[in-house]
Amino acid sequence: MANIGQVERTTVPLGRMKLTHRRYDLALRHRWAIATDLNQGGGKSLYPVVFVELTDAQGRTGLGEASPSSQYHETHATVTAFLQRVDAARLSFDDVAGSMAYLETVAPGSYPAKCALNLALLDGASQAAGQPLHSFLGLGFREAHHATSFTIGIDSPEMMASKTREAASMPVLKMKLGSPADRENFAAVRSAAPRKPIRVDANAGWKTKEEALENIEWLARDGFIQFVEQPMTAETPEADWTWLKARSPLPIFGDESYQSAADAERCAQCFHGVNVKLVKTGGVSAGKAALEAARARGLKTMLGCMIESSILITAAAHLAELTDYLDLDGNLLITNDPYQGVGCTAGLLSFHSLPHPTGLGVATRPGVAS
Ligand SMILES: [Mg+2]
Repeated sequence: MANIGQVERTTVPLGRMKLTHRRYDLALRHRWAIATDLNQGGGKSLYPVVFVELTDAQGRTGLGEASPSSQYHETHATVTAFLQRVDAARLSFDDVAGSMAYLETVAPGSYPAKCALNLALLDGASQAAGQPLHSFLGLGFREAHHATSFTIGIDSPEMMASKTREAASMPVLKMKLGSPADRENFAAVRSAAPRKPIRVDANAGWKTKEEALENIEWLARDGFIQFVEQPMTAETPEADWTWLKARSPLPIFGDESYQSAADAERCAQCFHGVNVKLVKTGGVSAGKAALEAARARGLKTMLGCMIESSILITAAAHLAELTDYLDLDGNLLITNDPYQGVGCTAGLLSFHSLPHPTGLGVATRPGVAS
């Protein structure tokens, strides 16, 4: 099981910096589905990611990860194609901003690949500075302060109740809705966790503002729902969002609608909060900017994830102080995480157990071949 996903390895030598990258298939504990998967065969049990390593002439190494999502038309193949075009000699731990500016010239978009390289660059840069990444970015990290939600993917009502019981130690759940069985599924989760706070993610599953409002009003009657993420598609007209925001009895958060800091002004009109993900924005640098831009406009901030190893989850945790809510459970949903990073006990994130005191702090997990 441990080595299930090691299927290819590519090395791009030369220059002052060496870049290596390889696909790795994360194995899901349970079959995974969200609203947008329901028309495409109903979810997956393996989730391919791409790990990158940058090593400079002094032997300093930075780690990164891309977790490409079909929601954004990205795959391990699109990530690999971008990485193969990168001239590693143009990357430097001493100039992260300049390195990222070079990557913008390689191709537009390609956010998961740029994310992986941004993480590796910042890992190396903050190690060189002798600081943990959050300090290098001018941020702190309060222990016993940052709790993540735990996500219950769409499944049969029986399985959703079973997953909820498995997550008994987690203080907050995130529940995926947007399927025809929403009410039955919600009742199943509630039967297993009667009063636990739940964040709902519709993943753009409701078709009209009226349908969204009706569902949100139903959820509000539960009394323990914190907010509802992305009720409608990102293509929904702004007027429909402002109509819904004005009437919604629960806060609504934009996820698919919030790509980067440039969307903050528009999202402040449409939502009460936004969900930032590193692979969506293109890394920690852009993720930090997206969180700061949202806060500057009065939006609540959330930091989320895809299915990810401890590299991406730990990188995101370094930005925890810029958030109101965390949904960093991607590494808890898999069985073959080859890396060890931020700890999670009963939902609380901790840096006490980080293998390294500087940089991302992540190391290969003993006993799991990477
Ligand atoms: Mg979401």
